[in-house]
Amino acid sequence: MDVALLDTVLADLEQPAYRAGQVWSWAAHGAAGYEAMTDLPKRLREELAGRVPFSTLSVEVQREARDGTIKVLFRTADGHPVEAVLMRYRDGRRSLCLSSQSGCPLTCTFCATGQMAFGRNLTASEILDQALHFRRLTEVDHAVFMGMGEPMLNLDEVLGAARRLPEIGITPRRTTISTVGWLPGLTRFVDEVDEPIRLALSLHAPDDELRSQIMPVNDRYPLRDIIAECRRYVAQRRRRVFIEYVMLAGVNDSRAQARALASLLGGDAFKVNLIPYNPTGMYDGSDRDHIARFKSELEHHHVPVTVRLTRGRDIEAACGQLAAAPKPVRRAGRAAATRATLPRR
Ligand code: SAH
Repeated sequence: MDVALLDTVLADLEQPAYRAGQVWSWAAHGAAGYEAMTDLPKRLREELAGRVPFSTLSVEVQREARDGTIKVLFRTADGHPVEAVLMRYRDGRRSLCLSSQSGCPLTCTFCATGQMAFGRNLTASEILDQALHFRRLTEVDHAVFMGMGEPMLNLDEVLGAARRLPEIGITPRRTTISTVGWLPGLTRFVDEVDEPIRLALSLHAPDDELRSQIMPVNDRYPLRDIIAECRRYVAQRRRRVFIEYVMLAGVNDSRAQARALASLLGGDAFKVNLIPYNPTGMYDGSDRDHIARFKSELEHHHVPVTVRLTRGRDIEAACGQLAAAPKPVRRAGRAAATRATLPRR
């Protein structure tokens, strides 16, 4: 919900200061609406329901994959698409993938969001409403800013949201902000953020030439500078930075490139996460053998590495896929027609 609007309306109704906290606490614990907030006077609940929409986002499409992954396409009140995903793992982890912007101004060639028009930055309330939507379905404990957008271009709102996630059940240590390496935001993040929020860098190439080809932002902020900034984070926080590396067949998956990556990263400041490509039409993903070979080459050079579990393949859960897909998306129209899915596990 729009917490600024909530404050204004509560002040207008001459409510005591603690009311905003009461309302937020109910929402953070998964309340479905104002009517559930039984320690608020009934008149007040009705007044709020009429004046402060319970969410800043409406659900346009919700899909559940066979593996339990749920992906939602929301709309902001002014009509911008926003995607978010809930991933449920066998070990019980429930992780949210949140968007920081509608669309993205960067144009990474492999990313579906990068190919659509940029909308705007999301507010902290719009980011939190993605999380609250899933919190109404299930308890949640991890969040990654790996949905649409570049978090470091919208750092204040992202941090505003991240700082309220603990009340929803997600601590800073279980919150990860992922970036292409947008240097001004990254520098601020390293210098100004006290909470132990984790950092992930989308690298995807071991040298500037290839990286600039697939991630044009690299022309502006080249590898050397962003790696140095990540090392500063590691030195200050004594926590590794995750390196995301999406595996593109014949592009960045050779043994020589694995060696180049190992020498770029060196030491133990980083942990590499190899990401099987979720094909969105622009590239072919590397096959298992290539991924395994790349992984063992990194291990041979003592670089910590894992291969990311693939989730939600059957529901187009890759970044930007739902908002970009013109055909498969069934528009639900009014809220009543929206297919609500409840967790199976
Ligand atoms: N702009 C930030 C946050 C978005 S994160 C960043 O780039 O880090 C999105 C992550 O998903 C990135 O690591 C990106 O490389 C990855 N990604 C995008 N499209 C993908 C696809 N089709 N398959 C697999 N990973 C993808």
